[in-house]
Amino acid sequence: MLTEFSAAISSVNLLTQMAKTALQAHTQVERDKILGEFRETIIELYERILRLQVQMEEALRVKIEAEEKLKQYEKWEVECAKYMLTEPKPGLFVYALKSEHVGEQPAHWICPKCYESRKKSILQSERRVNPTFVGKRCPECKTDFSIRGV
Ligand SMILES: [Zn+2]
Repeated sequence: MLTEFSAAISSVNLLTQMAKTALQAHTQVERDKILGEFRETIIELYERILRLQVQMEEALRVKIEAEEKLKQYEKWEVECAKYMLTEPKPGLFVYALKSEHVGEQPAHWICPKCYESRKKSILQSERRVNPTFVGKRCPECKTDFSIRGV
């Protein structure tokens, strides 16, 4: 974008110089020749401005996306700080709402796999066809967490 901007500035400087030269021309032939070059330079300048406009719109889109991503990261940092990794039974790890936040919302667990992907997915009690299964399921990634024996 800076290269295109510098080229546009150069075109404006060239047009200024051409206008001065045209004013000092002594014949109509000289003025017509400069006018032809002037038109070509104006067209080039117009095309450069259009390219700059496209580049600026793209830069603005990237900036807006980056700001939105940063907002999401900041929001997640606040949310994930409310949880701690726990092991409700040997070998079973989940993130549990810290006790100081219970009351703001009911105590619950969230999926450790989704947590690593910066998603809060509350584990849900799962009724299974297999009546011996006692556990919870992540509604996002469908991971089952057997809690029998807790
Ligand atoms: Zn999950």
